[in-house]
Amino acid sequence: MMDFARKEKAPDIGEALTALIDKVIVDRRNAEYAAGRGSGLGEVAQKRIGAGYIGTECDRALAYRYHRVEKETREEYVSAGELQRHALVGFWTEESMAEWLRLAGFDLRTNKEDGSQYGYRVARDPTTGQARIAGEIDGCILAGPLAMPYPLLWESKKATAKKFAKFAKEGVAKADPKYHGQIQTNMAYLEVEHTLFTMLNVDSMKIYQEIVRFDPAVAQRLTDRAVRVLESRAPEEMPRIAGDESDWRCKFCDYRARCWDEPSAPEQMAKPAWLTGGGA
Ligand code: SF4
Repeated sequence: MMDFARKEKAPDIGEALTALIDKVIVDRRNAEYAAGRGSGLGEVAQKRIGAGYIGTECDRALAYRYHRVEKETREEYVSAGELQRHALVGFWTEESMAEWLRLAGFDLRTNKEDGSQYGYRVARDPTTGQARIAGEIDGCILAGPLAMPYPLLWESKKATAKKFAKFAKEGVAKADPKYHGQIQTNMAYLEVEHTLFTMLNVDSMKIYQEIVRFDPAVAQRLTDRAVRVLESRAPEEMPRIAGDESDWRCKFCDYRARCWDEPSAPEQMAKPAWLTGGGA
């Protein structure tokens, strides 16, 4: 029997507990992906551009991701376990917000009858038939107690106070071109003209909301660029966003070392007319 009166020195668990938790949640995520449940769209193994990052500002960074170039380890290293916990908080936020919207009287649909998410798969590979551009939505709102342009797609995000303040001040399009690109691409392929964007501030629990309108020019530009990335043989064929690696966008990029170590693709010069049949 344990002697509770005696003061035992607590074992020094140090970082061991975090490491244990990291392992189990990452193992579970990997098992879910292997079983095809990591994505409602099923096809998880092939190369594709997801709507979640189709709006990546830099063409070349998008291509690195599409070509599955391994991300570099940066000083502010985030472990796989931390990343997974961030993702899980995103899921909890989404589930809670969906519940609150329904309780408030909105007719929100988040899943099909078979439980999968609504989404789309396009730009199929002519050889394999697999989709190379794909997206899923958090939901679609068909009706509700407020005058809004139904139906609306619904996109849920979470943020710290600092990021939240940026969205509240600038709106989605300016605050985050990647989120905006995702929303615009979803609206383009699902043919819905408005999206309700909600963001939960995980520090203060305040909610930011915005109705984002479909912008066909933005959606077209992103799709055209995605097709160029799909057709590229290597990421370096795509242009860099900056002329210098000290640019702030490169500073936080996961591919910075490779990007600036590799020479750029040679500039394509116009062919002379006599080679294209236009001259003497
Ligand atoms: S380092 Fe800069 S230019 Fe290169 S991929 Fe990243 S953001 Fe683009």
